[in-house]
Amino acid sequence: MHEMSFADRMSTVEFDVGDRPHITVDTEVCRSCTTRACVPACPAKLFVPTDDGGILFNYEQCFECGTCYQLCNSAGAITWTYPDGGHGVVFRKG
Ligand code: SF4
Ligand code: SF4
Repeated sequence: MHEMSFADRMSTVEFDVGDRPHITVDTEVCRSCTTRACVPACPAKLFVPTDDGGILFNYEQCFECGTCYQLCNSAGAITWTYPDGGHGVVFRKG
């Protein structure tokens, strides 16, 4: 039940799973990405390289840490959409 340990650790974070993705990944951009920085960086391991050079992304267990978004900024594959109704986590970008 590794999912529960995430829930425990992130117990102050309000999940809003199953509504709409707050992160979308343009996997066409990922195909030409050389860093694949998101793969080891995501603490929830949600970015999975595929054999054909693509990236699979599963947002449902994302806890919105923002790491992938920060790392991927130059590549531009990730679009961040804040969840509706005050859910989720607010990041302050400086
Ligand atoms: S760092 Fe960005 S462009 Fe590269 S594989 Fe990850 S999400 Fe795709
Ligand atoms: S925001 Fe954090 S948990 Fe969500 S996909 Fe990006 S790195 Fe993973």
